[in-house]
Amino acid sequence: MDSKDLYERSKSLLPGGVNSPVRTFDPYPFFVKSGSGSKIYDVEGNEYLDYCLGYGPLFLGHGHPAVLKAVKEQLEKGVHFGVPTEAEARLGEKIAGHVPCAEMVRFVNSGTEATMNAVRLARAYVGREKVLMFDGGYHGSHDSLLFESRGSKSPGIPRSLKNSTLVTPFNDLEKVEDIAKRNELAAIIVEPVMGNSGCIPPVEGFLEGLRNICDDSDILLIFDEVITGFRLALGGAQEYFDVRPDVVTLGKVIGGGFPIGAFGARREIMEMVKPEGEVFHAGTFSGHPVSMSAGTATIEVLENEEVIERTSSFAERLAKFLREESGYPVNQVGPMFQIFFKEGKVKDVDGARKSDEDKFKRLQRSLMEDGIFIPPSRFECWFVSGAHSEEDLAGTKKAIKNCPNLFRQGG
Ligand code: PMP
Repeated sequence: MDSKDLYERSKSLLPGGVNSPVRTFDPYPFFVKSGSGSKIYDVEGNEYLDYCLGYGPLFLGHGHPAVLKAVKEQLEKGVHFGVPTEAEARLGEKIAGHVPCAEMVRFVNSGTEATMNAVRLARAYVGREKVLMFDGGYHGSHDSLLFESRGSKSPGIPRSLKNSTLVTPFNDLEKVEDIAKRNELAAIIVEPVMGNSGCIPPVEGFLEGLRNICDDSDILLIFDEVITGFRLALGGAQEYFDVRPDVVTLGKVIGGGFPIGAFGARREIMEMVKPEGEVFHAGTFSGHPVSMSAGTATIEVLENEEVIERTSSFAERLAKFLREESGYPVNQVGPMFQIFFKEGKVKDVDGARKSDEDKFKRLQRSLMEDGIFIPPSRFECWFVSGAHSEEDLAGTKKAIKNCPNLFRQGG
């Protein structure tokens, strides 16, 4: 069956033919058969250089030997027990060892679960209910945080939740100060680099300012590092920007391509989680041995090889090329970046929303025709993996030069 047939078949069974909405694009997505290193291959046998990386988890690329070895070893021993394994302590040590704010950690199965539980924990610890998030931030698909400035992002979310989830623009400290003064906040949750509105870094002083506001009003600061964790630095954005939150949420890279999430904080906060404390969290698959093994193997490679430095340099050079070639702003932080088809700097989601969708789609299609796959939404990021080579960089530059009529004259 080719991709078109598979799409028709899937569409009759799965809403939109997919299991997560961003995966579909016009006229239909290609169906992937396999991946190796920086490349993926569709069922027709076409090769694509992959800047999506499963939306970020595959920081070492597809089928990294160290990850495969760890997973195979675990598979032979058994897949899942519901009884503790050493694999959980090993990954726990890696996270506590690298992430400044995380003295203890609880593993879950997705980024969604991580932020859902982090918010519950923060509410319980502080003894207040309101949470402040930023317009364009994405923290998973649970009800509490599926909001934007205009209200909830989906039918089916209780209207009452709007009273406990406040939304304000990213990179505007004054507004945050004002909201913190007028509301009893339990927590502020922020993606330190917005990775779900394109790629939007914090302006200078923004994260520090959030830290101060939280300190002044006994609010917990939660960094959602599902994207930035173990990607911008081993200690994530909190190490990269040198600002320490109270609570961190992780996912993606720490599972080495397998389902995972985690939330962590200092001991005093984490000891409130059941069974040590009273804040409920449970999960049949939490601390899944295969995810633990793949995650530990991934972090060991990150510790021993200069993946973060190499991928960041690759992304910096490619972003510069794309910026110069196109004449449009390209935001890049570490190994992630995005182009915005609009005038001027992009420092919040309103800027990202102005990026010309049609041009972005044409870019995505043109690159795909040249064997390069970028996430098919202007609100995602391009991700670079440790498997991306200098040859891949040269090939991408060539394909960018080949994009017809998208870029500005003289760009
Ligand atoms: N937080 C952030 C910052 C994310 O980017 C995502 C997913 N892209 C999530 C949370 C949710 O993670 P998951 O899809 O694993 O539930």
